[in-house]
Amino acid sequence: KGPDPDIVGIIERMATVKHKILVLSGKGGVGKSTFSAQLSFALASKDHQVGLLDIDICGPSIPKMLGLEGQDIHQSNLGWSPVYLDSNLGVMSIGFMLPNPDEAVIWRGPRKNGLIKQFLKDVHWGEIDYLVVDAPPGTSDEHISIVQYLQATGIDGAVVVTTPQQVSLADVRKEISFCKKVGIRVLGVVENMSGLRQRLADLRFEREGEDVTEWALQYVKEKAPELLSLFGCSDVFDSRGGGAAKMCREMGVPFLGKVPMDPLLGRAAEEGRSCFDDQRCSASAPALLRIVEKL
Ligand code: ADP
Repeated sequence: KGPDPDIVGIIERMATVKHKILVLSGKGGVGKSTFSAQLSFALASKDHQVGLLDIDICGPSIPKMLGLEGQDIHQSNLGWSPVYLDSNLGVMSIGFMLPNPDEAVIWRGPRKNGLIKQFLKDVHWGEIDYLVVDAPPGTSDEHISIVQYLQATGIDGAVVVTTPQQVSLADVRKEISFCKKVGIRVLGVVENMSGLRQRLADLRFEREGEDVTEWALQYVKEKAPELLSLFGCSDVFDSRGGGAAKMCREMGVPFLGKVPMDPLLGRAAEEGRSCFDDQRCSASAPALLRIVEKL
């Protein structure tokens, strides 16, 4: 039996892609797509050529998060053309193919796998530095196929996004053991929506001209810790880093950092903007940039 023609096609197509990063999460709603979108914005702002591939087939939120809703993909003799936000940021998502965004995509595994295969084989990215792949949450059929295809072409590894809660971390452990089993390097774990501390620190509290921010934070920490931890996880106050950091130490994978809950990042995602464009996302943008530097 000769080599699988699909795999051969994918290897050929991916030959012009230098780095491939898979973004995973154990659960939905933890900020995986937000991270994928902002990671792509950050890499593009550093003048890299970037492709963002959304294979979250049941919930493709990437078009909206990049302000590209309602766009169409075009076909040429080179393949499917991504939708370009800038000349160095191309995006491909099943969201561009659905006639009605409110329509549910009810597909069984094989059909989803077929589309993922096509995305990897038929999209004409051209010469790019990074391909960021926003995967669906969990460790389902789609993961096994994308991992299998991407591994054939060489993949840098996976970034796993979680929130600080134990319920999310439990699923992340599964995600990490999945990566270990299939032989994908875990580039690291991002703890998203990690408290509101930075946001409060940004506000700077003054009393009689004196900066009392630290005192104010301490006061809130003592009187209403749930305000800072947001989800009521006391781990937020662990100076060695509780939550995801602790889990990373236990599982022997890198911890990439915390991104605080930042309403302005939430708004940037709603409006399809980069959070690095202006000074407003002062809580989340520096944290995200520190993480990007580590990749
Ligand atoms: P997932 O891809 O894991 O399902 P999303 O990226 O769609 O999650 O995020 C879920 C929602 O939470 C989105 O509306 C997003 O804008 C918001 N969000 C994600 N991270 C943050 C954050 N750090 N601060 C504020 N809002 C956030």
